[in-house]
Amino acid sequence: MSAALQGRHATSAAPLDGRRTASSEVPVAAVELRGVTKRFGATTALDGIDLAIRKGEFFALLGPSGCGKTTTLNLIGGFESASSGTLLIDGQPVQDIPAHARPVNTVFQSYALFPHMSVVENVEFGLRMKQVPKTERRRAAFEMLKMVSLAGFEDRRPNQLSGGQRQRVALARALVNRPSVLLLDEPLGALDLKLRKQMQIELTRLQRQVGITFVYVTHDQEEALSMSDRIAVMDQGRILQIGTPAEIYDAPANRGVMEFIGSVNVFEGRVGTAVGERARVELADRVGIDAQAVAGLAAGAPVSVLVRPERIRMSAIAPAEPASPLAGTLEKIAPLGFVTHCTVRLSNEQEVLVFRLNSLDGSGSEIFAEGQRVFLWWAPTDGRMFPANTRIESIGTPQAASSSHGRPT
Ligand code: ATP
Repeated sequence: MSAALQGRHATSAAPLDGRRTASSEVPVAAVELRGVTKRFGATTALDGIDLAIRKGEFFALLGPSGCGKTTTLNLIGGFESASSGTLLIDGQPVQDIPAHARPVNTVFQSYALFPHMSVVENVEFGLRMKQVPKTERRRAAFEMLKMVSLAGFEDRRPNQLSGGQRQRVALARALVNRPSVLLLDEPLGALDLKLRKQMQIELTRLQRQVGITFVYVTHDQEEALSMSDRIAVMDQGRILQIGTPAEIYDAPANRGVMEFIGSVNVFEGRVGTAVGERARVELADRVGIDAQAVAGLAAGAPVSVLVRPERIRMSAIAPAEPASPLAGTLEKIAPLGFVTHCTVRLSNEQEVLVFRLNSLDGSGSEIFAEGQRVFLWWAPTDGRMFPANTRIESIGTPQAASSSHGRPT
C-alpha cells in the first residue's frame, strides 16, 4: 500500500454494511440505497444500485464523468426521485419526504452563497428559517465560522472573500444545521491546486470534528483516496467496487477499477504454468512474465496482466530471480520531485512506465541514464491477471501503452 493510502481509513472502526457487530446488532446505515434505478427518458443514469453508507463515515462516490455520481447525490438530497428501488436515511424510507424536510444538507461546487447577505447572515440562514432565536443562531454561526477558520470575517460580503473562504462559508452554512448527512458535490473543483490540497486536509479534519456523515462526489482519484474512509467506484450507472482506499488500490475487484485508480501497465498474453499463487504468463515470442494465479484462468487462457509502475523493479543487472526478466531500453527519465517516472521501451515498441521513489533508504540508489539497457521484474502478487477483453471501455485509459507483444530485446 502506498504511503498516501495509509491514514484515516486505517483507523476506521465502523462495522461493515449489513454485517453483524460483535454484539450481533445490525447498525443502521446513515444512507442506504436498495436496488435503486434512475432513468431519464432513454438514459439509465443509475442501474440497480445497492449502497450502504455508515454513520459518521467520509464516503466518496468516485468515477468518470457521466457515471451517475451527481444523480446518486440528488436522489439522497431529494432533488430527484428514483424510478425504482428504495432509499433510506437513518433507516427511514424517504421517497415521499421532500428535499427541505430531509436531515440532509448539500454543498455545491458553486458555493451558492447569498451575495446580499454578510458571511454570518449566510451561515445562520438555515437556522433563521427554522425560527431559531437570533442570539442562539448568531452564537451557533460564530462558533461554526471559528471551526472553519473564518473568525473575524463575519461582517464581510461573499464578494470580499477568496474562493477558498467562500467554500468555507458554504460549509459552515451547511454544517450549522447539524444535518445527519452532508452531501458534497465536487466542492473543491473551482479551487486552484494548492488551495484544493489545503482544503482537503481541512475538510477531513472538520468531518472528524463534527462526526457528520459526508457523502463526497469527485472524479479525482487522489482526492478520494486521501480523504475517504471508503469509496464507491462507479461506472455507467453501476458500482464496480466499494472499499477502503487501500482495498480499492491494492485489491481492485476488477480490471475497470484497477485502470481507473492510479496508473497501470498492461501486458497481453496467455496463461502458461501456475504453481501455487504464482502464474507465468506467456507473451509473444515465448517471453514470460509473473502474475498472481487466479482460479478459473487455466493454462492457455488469454489474459491481461496489469502491473502498477511503482511495483516494477528496474536494474541494469539481470536479477537471479526471475530467470528471464523483461528487458528494454530506458528511453526517458522524468524526475518529479519525490518520484521519478521512467519510460522503458521494449523491442516490440510497448512502453512500460516505472516509478522510482527518490528516498534516502537506498531503494532508489541505482543511477540510470537515458538510452541504457535495463531489466524489469516484479513480485508475482503485483501482476494482477484478468481475462482478456474485459476492459470497461468508458473508464479511462492506462497511462502506459498496452500491447499484445511485450518481449525483451
Ligand atoms: P459528472 O462528473 O460529469 O458530473 P456524474 O457522474 O455526476 O458526471 P450524472 O450527472 O449523475 O453523472 O449523470 C449520469 C447520466 O445521466 C449521464 O449520462 C447524464 O447525461 C444523465 N443525466 C443526468 N441528469 C439528466 C437529466 N436531467 N436529464 C437527462 N439525462 C440526465
